[in-house]
Amino acid sequence: MEQKIYPVQTENVCYEYEDADRLAVNHVNLTVEKGSFVAVLGHNGSGKSTLAKMMNALFLPTDGRVLVCGLDTSEEEQTWTVRRHAGMVFQNPDNQIVANVVREDVAFGLENLGVPQPEMMPRIEAALEAVRMSHRAEFAPHMLSGGQKQRVAVAGVLAMQPEVMILDEATAMLDPSGRADVLKTVRRLNREQGMTVLWITHFMEEAAQADRVVVMNKGQVAMDGTPAEVFTKVDEIKKLGLDVPPMAELAMELRKDGLELPAGILTVNDMVKELKQKLCR
Ligand code: ADP
Ligand code: MG
Repeated sequence: MEQKIYPVQTENVCYEYEDADRLAVNHVNLTVEKGSFVAVLGHNGSGKSTLAKMMNALFLPTDGRVLVCGLDTSEEEQTWTVRRHAGMVFQNPDNQIVANVVREDVAFGLENLGVPQPEMMPRIEAALEAVRMSHRAEFAPHMLSGGQKQRVAVAGVLAMQPEVMILDEATAMLDPSGRADVLKTVRRLNREQGMTVLWITHFMEEAAQADRVVVMNKGQVAMDGTPAEVFTKVDEIKKLGLDVPPMAELAMELRKDGLELPAGILTVNDMVKELKQKLCR
């Protein structure tokens, strides 16, 4: 039987930094379904960035393997194909922007890939449109807000037509409105274009919007499930050094006191809906 090909698949993957006393990534098996939006959570140092860098062939596993669209990242001749298939967006927008004009910045990756000139223009336009930045195409990046800069970074990756987009705490340096803006943009790309997304974050309310939540701890996958499944396990989440979405915690407390609430309450909207049904006429 032919094996199914996934955007990203890790098989017992490990990473050991030189002189480290433990594995930064410790036998992780993760399969990312095409078209899914997967949030990766975990406290500082849990191995999220190291894992992400292995998915982009920036780091090669010290044990196990990583397959990107079926390609083994350790095979040297695949490095550039892997990087094109698995596009990365990093934390600091200022470190990712290289050109003096937004449009040229989006073009940069395509030039590196050697995409022919006539093909470049429509791809750049489409990418800028997809992140709603067409009207800023001629702007200097330093004129943009943090959220807008991250959307330009997303456009730069998008123009390369990747199979999966990996965003490593891409909202961590943004203000709340910039964060919401970038998440909304990427969520829409996922829904409308079927872009597979790996969204690394330490904001619970962002993870609550994913299809699937993977929680890392000490280089390993500690929890894996839907947001409803993961965030119902309040005590387990807290033991891993993470916060629980406030509404999930409130729901847990109310349940303890006998109010019957369904699992999976994560947002204010969920809670309002349930309480109105229960308490209002
Ligand atoms: P996260 O992204 O979840 O914060 P990282 O992948 O950055 O976690 O780090 C995982 C582990 O690897 C941590 O224990 C960290 O201290 C260690 N680590 C990260 N980068 C290096 C490095 N360059 N050299 C040695 N150890 C590192
Ligand atoms: Mg990190």
